[in-house]
Amino acid sequence: MTEQTSLRTSERSARARGAATSKATAARSSGAAAKPGAKPGFDKKTIALVYDFDGTLSPRPMQEYTFLPKIGEDPKAFWRECNTLAREQEADPLITYMHLMYKKAKARGVRIDRADLVALGRDVELFAGVEAWFGEIAEYIRIRAESQGVALRHYLISSGLVEIIEGTRIRPHFHNVFASEYWFEAYDLPYPKRVITDTGKTQYLFRINKGIENLGQSINEHMAEGVRPIPFSNMIYFGDGDTDVPSMAVMRKNGGHAIAVHPPGKPRTKCIELFRAGRCDFFAPADYTRGSELFSRTTLLIDRILANIRLEEEAWRLRRSAGL
Ligand SMILES: [Mg+2]
Repeated sequence: MTEQTSLRTSERSARARGAATSKATAARSSGAAAKPGAKPGFDKKTIALVYDFDGTLSPRPMQEYTFLPKIGEDPKAFWRECNTLAREQEADPLITYMHLMYKKAKARGVRIDRADLVALGRDVELFAGVEAWFGEIAEYIRIRAESQGVALRHYLISSGLVEIIEGTRIRPHFHNVFASEYWFEAYDLPYPKRVITDTGKTQYLFRINKGIENLGQSINEHMAEGVRPIPFSNMIYFGDGDTDVPSMAVMRKNGGHAIAVHPPGKPRTKCIELFRAGRCDFFAPADYTRGSELFSRTTLLIDRILANIRLEEEAWRLRRSAGL
């Protein structure tokens, strides 16, 4: 519990730092820092890259690297049992997996606390190039952006576990992580605190779009398009399959972008299906190294976003000079 509280505190302060940084970036881009009371500048210059985790950044579900081996569970048998149980009970499959993991751990006498889950995150495998990707994309935008004050953020929206993600090497690259999470003190077994389903993922896209990332705040209140800090047209969503369809659909219908990935060297059938249905702009093998197909298709979309930012900024200046 002490561990959890301290982690929570450090997470909150990291978020506060993030908010302070983004406020500073916004102030710089608007010029408001230099001249208090000056008219704010065009501020829709933040680009958000949003990722699914399992199958998109990592080859297998994160529980298979860590939790399941620790309790001596065969992954295939475990997921089969989850699906059967969820179907029989008409239960939510994600709540079912979160419950079953700990029920089995308890039955086998294995205690896994929050800190243990975080530690397990270190063993999660990532696709080639993922670790360097964040720096490479930042560098690309730095070179290509002709507009001052363009900012880049990475977000994760996953049905996997916040705790495991927290332990991965790439966690510091994310502005925010939205994933399923446990209460550790609710009952004798850890209890789902937040479950992120396929359709539930779309809520977090709107949170990014509206700048309402504090989960204690409601997302449902109306906010005019013009005041939303990150337009969908500045966002790219990365996913790998059917569980990403609602998110991809929300992105594309709102003027945003989506890229589907498949494991390198494995069939791309699912991606072709998504592409054919208009769910994604592009698809590519999940190889994140600079110069890969994924890298070049992503940067192509980034070029389009950067051009759009310049265009919108110019129109904004013209409207202002015309007194509109
Ligand atoms: Mg996935």
